[in-house]
Amino acid sequence: AIIATDVHKWYGNHFHVLRGVSLSVKQGEVVVIMGPSGSGKSTFIRTFNALEEFQQGSIIIDGINLSHDLKNIEEIRREVGMVFQQFNLFPHLTILQNVTLAPIWVRRWPKAKAEEVALQLLERVGILEQAKKFPGQLSGGQQQRVAIARALAMQPKIMLFDEPTSALDPEMVREVLDVMRTLASEGMTMVCVTHEVGFAREVADRVVLMSDGVLVEEGTPEVFFSNPKEERTKKFLSQIL
Ligand code: ATP
Ligand code: MG
Repeated sequence: AIIATDVHKWYGNHFHVLRGVSLSVKQGEVVVIMGPSGSGKSTFIRTFNALEEFQQGSIIIDGINLSHDLKNIEEIRREVGMVFQQFNLFPHLTILQNVTLAPIWVRRWPKAKAEEVALQLLERVGILEQAKKFPGQLSGGQQQRVAIARALAMQPKIMLFDEPTSALDPEMVREVLDVMRTLASEGMTMVCVTHEVGFAREVADRVVLMSDGVLVEEGTPEVFFSNPKEERTKKFLSQIL
């Protein structure tokens, strides 16, 4: 579970990027965050796995209080997996090595165990036959599925997705969303920044709109998309629907 309360962050001294953001995500819940470019969505979810500092407020991840200065970074990184828009795979490592790297070096698993788990995960995301290839030899959709497998290899309790399909060609979006859909149905706690409305309608328990560093509105997908209350939500939806 995630309990973020009144989180404030500044970039430098003057740019107040997160202006008191509170969000709770229960275990097994799927929350989709939408909002205009530059509104702070990435910054916000990056605070959850200590990729970004914050200056005020509190974030508790499965009972671990994330300190502002990121002192307990290692502990958090084991709990929270993240998938980025640009897959961020290591280009000089094979697919299998990409997935086993963190379990071997961070979790200290023996290589054989890490490989066994990695192969199971690659099968789950449908790319087992690519295990010996390098990232550059895979399609974008395949690379993104490797990135998901790599995050899952650390056995996280929470998965963060930051626009995982927006760098993909349209025909590859579906295969990535299908993997995410399966994960959600298996009970993974997920926070997804995405503008995939179909996915949000079908999979999200709640959808929230972020604008100018605040959460403007949150609701079930039915209410959020069909009957939003706030002007800013209506305006945003008119641009994407
Ligand atoms: P997008 O939909 O384009 O991904 P976003 O909602 O994810 O946008 P963020 O990436 O969180 O927005 O950025 C929020 C604001 O903070 C933007 O104005 C951005 O320019 C600024 N920003 C992001 N990273 C930094 C940084 N490292 N230093 C200074 N400003 C930053
Ligand atoms: Mg972003």
